[in-house]
Amino acid sequence: MKTDLEIAQAAKLQHIKDIAAKIDVPESVLEPYGHHKAKLPLSLIDDSKVANAKLVLVTAMSPTPAGEGKTTVTIGLTEGLNLEGKKTVAALREPSLGPVFGIKGGAAGGGHSQVVPMEDINLHFTGDFAAIEKANNLLSALIDNNIQAKAEVNLGIDGRTVRWKRVMDMNDRALRQITVGMGGKANGILREDGFNITAASEIMAILCMSTDFADLQERLGNIFVGYTFDKKPIYARDLKAEGAMAALLKDAIKPNLVQTLHGVPAIIHGGPFANIAQGTNSIIATKMAMSLGEYVVTEAGFGADLGAEKFFHLKCRASGLKPAAVVVVATIRALRYHGGASLSELNDVSVERVEAGFENLEKHLENMQSFGVRPVVAVNKFVSDSEEEIQWLVNKCESLGIKCKVSNGWAEGGEGVREVAKAVIEEAESGKSNLEMLYDVNSSIQDKITTVATRIYGAEGVEFTAKAKADLRTIESLGLSNLPVCIAKTQKSFSDDDSKRGRPRDFRITIREFEFARGAGFVIAVVGNLMRMPGLPAEPASNRISVNSEGQIEGLF
Ligand code: ADP
Ligand code: MG
Repeated sequence: MKTDLEIAQAAKLQHIKDIAAKIDVPESVLEPYGHHKAKLPLSLIDDSKVANAKLVLVTAMSPTPAGEGKTTVTIGLTEGLNLEGKKTVAALREPSLGPVFGIKGGAAGGGHSQVVPMEDINLHFTGDFAAIEKANNLLSALIDNNIQAKAEVNLGIDGRTVRWKRVMDMNDRALRQITVGMGGKANGILREDGFNITAASEIMAILCMSTDFADLQERLGNIFVGYTFDKKPIYARDLKAEGAMAALLKDAIKPNLVQTLHGVPAIIHGGPFANIAQGTNSIIATKMAMSLGEYVVTEAGFGADLGAEKFFHLKCRASGLKPAAVVVVATIRALRYHGGASLSELNDVSVERVEAGFENLEKHLENMQSFGVRPVVAVNKFVSDSEEEIQWLVNKCESLGIKCKVSNGWAEGGEGVREVAKAVIEEAESGKSNLEMLYDVNSSIQDKITTVATRIYGAEGVEFTAKAKADLRTIESLGLSNLPVCIAKTQKSFSDDDSKRGRPRDFRITIREFEFARGAGFVIAVVGNLMRMPGLPAEPASNRISVNSEGQIEGLF
């Protein structure tokens, strides 16, 4: 069997100007990065076209550790919709370098549903992550510079209260906690600091929430840094940081155009975390894709309890976008897993386990309906699936009035996703989806969290630790109570306990603490332990990667 990389390298790529021509973007406005990648100027966004295009969100049931194939389905469905005669563009997240060398694998789809050039997309791409890292670290440098500065310009920042961290796009656990300013008077003032991975930077979340250059600069200025010794809050704009940070992002804010294996346009832009941030590509990229295609297929990270909830409450709320259809990706493997299969039993056929695990998918489907949107189930087909299991699932969904179609894009590309495409077109054109927010943004932070926890997770209620209660008072004092909430929870369970599979009942969740992303425009409620700087496994994927004498990459997935 061919690897993803071998399939991608065997593809004959079209010149990016020919891909652009398919969505009526003339060569004169394209900003090419080599032959197969280009940036698109923001002037291509046309609000009247955005209003008419149909947005399709791809989300999923609670995943197994392997991932259920949302990106793979998103790419296959984009091709499938084109085959069904709809001019369709994919809008996807940019991969982070860290996981490439770790365990998860690529983020450019899989099998015969990939975006290419996949080596570039997975490695440095067009440099957006590097620009985000620089903008983030400029603010860090300005903070330490000000702490050291002479009295006339010194803001009196208490280094112990600084929440802003440095970032780097690498899984490097040794940098989680560091000391800066060592080496005497000339080298700054000693304080504790640390590194996050670039995708976890608030700048990434900001870039993806921004609607234009002015909004970007405004949000950058709003970043909360820490306090002065007399407890005055300090924002990035107090350090006059936002202008130079925006300047560093002048190209990173522009979406990137690439192609699927079968030459369909795909826009890839921005890659925020799905726990501490919105987990989906930039608003600008989605609007750009909607300006250029009749249909746009996009993905939100993790299961629907996290990805879709944040897509609706954070991204749709901020942008006014509404999906015309929602696809919930299910796999027979994940149904077996929620039905009791251990990780080593994931490939063992068992209709009983699929039946027992269905309650997980069912809860996600109910959740989508509670948002006023109509879900379509796409069964991402694996070679280990049996006909009996798939048929059981299709019948079960249909008995609930929900369309359920097999998605075989991994093996066949868009041809294998035509049935899903037809169902999506039918739902989107019925006009029956009408997104409604579950909470009013002006209700209290506790109420907003309780609404999501009870209605989406199925929890009985929410506990707040003493630290979380103190943070709530800080949120109040900083005037952030009217922001929406981004709940950072495990993706493995509806609850805050990874081991509770299926559809857990009779549980409460505990909010441990809060963080604020004032620039991005949300507060982060932290459930459990948060990882903002992953580590590498003992045998990292980097062991297998190399470049041959022709300069071609080998061993990448
Ligand atoms: P997600 O976006 O949900 O995290 P991806 O689409 O990135 O998932 O897929 C995760 C991994 O699973 C990728 O390595 C991909 O190649 C693989 N994969 C996806 N769908 C299939 C399938 N139907 N059969 C085999 N492998 C698949
Ligand atoms: Mg994905």
